[in-house]
Amino acid sequence: RLSSKSGKCRTRRQVCQLILDHFDSQYSQELGDQWGSVRSVLLNPHCWQHGALLNRFGDLAGVQSHLHSLGYHSLVPHSHSPASRSEPGSSHICSPLRCLLPEGVTRLPTQRHRAGWLKQYYLLNAASLLPVLALQVRDGEKVLDLCSAPGGKALAVLQEAMPGLLRCNDVDESRSKWLQKTLQSYIPPAVLSTVTVTNTDGRAIGSAEPQVYDKVLVDAPCSNDRSWLFTPGPQQGELWLRARTQLPHLQKDLLCSALAAVRPGGMVVYSTCTLSRGENQSVVEAVLTSCPGVELLDLEEELIGSLSQHFTFARLQPPLGHLVVPEHGRTWGPMFVCRLRRLS
Ligand code: SAM
Repeated sequence: RLSSKSGKCRTRRQVCQLILDHFDSQYSQELGDQWGSVRSVLLNPHCWQHGALLNRFGDLAGVQSHLHSLGYHSLVPHSHSPASRSEPGSSHICSPLRCLLPEGVTRLPTQRHRAGWLKQYYLLNAASLLPVLALQVRDGEKVLDLCSAPGGKALAVLQEAMPGLLRCNDVDESRSKWLQKTLQSYIPPAVLSTVTVTNTDGRAIGSAEPQVYDKVLVDAPCSNDRSWLFTPGPQQGELWLRARTQLPHLQKDLLCSALAAVRPGGMVVYSTCTLSRGENQSVVEAVLTSCPGVELLDLEEELIGSLSQHFTFARLQPPLGHLVVPEHGRTWGPMFVCRLRRLS
């Protein structure tokens, strides 16, 4: 039987003042009044919530009803096929992907890898499913997950549909091994035969494999606001802040590579887990200006409407993409998502 624990921090993490000052000055400007409540969530890890993505390939007998008895509720109503995402005329979506959210900060225990047994759930920040829901993968499609490790979103794609090919790529060798282990812990060998794991620089894939994929996810390397706040020591903080200035270049190159790798008519979803405008809307703006034949494809109102019951969205300027911002009681995010379509 599953037991759960409340999300208390065993060791108190130290906030890096340098990073906090930097965030205060940047985000109070970019988010205005919203920054105060976002800030207080980011500074309090004991209030962070964890969703449970159920593994449709695992033995779920009893798990779902147990979670419901603990007060967990669904992120989106369940449907059996990815094609029936919403009933005609409905203002809400449904999905084969099953993610359960706790009422408070209850956190399920992490399951250990055991050979020959598939884990039943994956713990995650539920907002990280938004890019996968936006990608709308259908059975049989060729999908590239350009920056894939440790594999949370790849796993979610396989909960939503059965792609004909899912290529999971990450430039970092040790993180690629972690990704492989994630996939083996959740996905049966028959399904894994449609998944390839590669270890190359995502910036090179667009020119090496032009117009190959139906869908590409760019879950880009970014300044991860949640963890950066707890950077140990000012020297590391300074290094991060210097690295931060370079990230938009890398992000833009990765997004351009994704747009080259997708077929005409195909979709690319760009996502980050930072609040930073320079890594979010500005990257999208730069790509739209420099890549001809690419259009912004806004997310469906049904998707945003359904998720607004659980997530808080920021008012973005310029209004390119969507940003989930954490708030007390609904601490999901930060997660920025923008969807693009290649026209020609
Ligand atoms: N999508 C992952 C998930 O859901 O578990 C998280 C991805 S994480 C935000 C970004 C990843 O990008 C890191 O694992 C990092 O190693 C990888 N990365 C950084 N630079 C890259 C590059 N040039 N090409 C491909 N991957 C890269």
